[in-house]
Amino acid sequence: MRRRSFFKLGLTAAALGVVKPGKAARVFEGVITSPAETMKPIVISTWEHGLAANDNAWKVLKANGPAIDAVELGVRTTESDMKNRSVGIGGRPDRDGHVTLDACIMDEKSNCGAVGYLEGIKHPISVARKIMENTPHIMLVGDGAKSFALDYGFKHVKSPIKEVKQEWKSWKKENKELFEKPVINNENHDTIGMLALDANGNLSGACTTSGWGYKLPGRIGDSPIIGAGLFVDNEIGAACATGLGEAVIRIAGSHTVVELMRQGRTPQQACEEAVARIISKHKNMEGLQVGFLALDKNGDYGAYSVFNGFNFAVKSNDQSELIDADNDRNW
Ligand code: ASP
Repeated sequence: MRRRSFFKLGLTAAALGVVKPGKAARVFEGVITSPAETMKPIVISTWEHGLAANDNAWKVLKANGPAIDAVELGVRTTESDMKNRSVGIGGRPDRDGHVTLDACIMDEKSNCGAVGYLEGIKHPISVARKIMENTPHIMLVGDGAKSFALDYGFKHVKSPIKEVKQEWKSWKKENKELFEKPVINNENHDTIGMLALDANGNLSGACTTSGWGYKLPGRIGDSPIIGAGLFVDNEIGAACATGLGEAVIRIAGSHTVVELMRQGRTPQQACEEAVARIISKHKNMEGLQVGFLALDKNGDYGAYSVFNGFNFAVKSNDQSELIDADNDRNW
């Protein structure tokens, strides 16, 4: 019911020509909303750490640089932040105390690269890009990914960092009963996913995380999986995900969002439908937070999450802000 009424409202607004300022025109179920207006360049990214990451990505975009450079530089900002507990070397470890990093990157030509379960390398996103540009493969994981990174000049960095190790030790003491059954909550995960549209109208995306805090050793989430944590189709748009990776993988989340846009949904509608699909596939939604972020070819964007609390950062020529995503708590 909720979904139906959402679309109805969307169509009514469109029929009346009520389109948010700065947003591009849409054709949805045959209804043309307004003349197209392209908002570019623009960069959007997940969570509050997206603000600083967008600022760096913007340096590339405002100089008319390529979106792929912008997203790599952008998310490296978050990977470098040793206070961040869910991205990069400063992130939380798995159950056994190993910080294992997942990342992927995708450009406007559908080139992509990914790393999973990578330990001791500060910038997994740049390793993913090297895989994309220098190998016939898309994804390397574990020891293979590590030796590839070392071969390409990345330096080994010690992890976990001191404070994180201390936190993990306390977690172990306090959570003996959970030791073999990790729990997820709305605080212990916060991937950065970033999507950019450059001045030439090309889209790219990047996604990087230390994953679910205290996960089972060997676990890889959605973030390095093209189509789950990130997907870019330069003809249509791009999407990324954050939250419980298992739920995102189950519906090939980011690919689903892009395909919904291909069928005519706005980025907002596409994110809403993907969240609805996740909800429909799970009986128990306790702690199951997922957020999607989408950007289309015109620079129009949308975001939606299962629960309250997901926000995202936007930067363009006339915008630099953190926005609370809408959510579907009434499911
Ligand atoms: N999606 C990430 C994972 O499951 C975590 C997150 O975004 O919060 O590893």
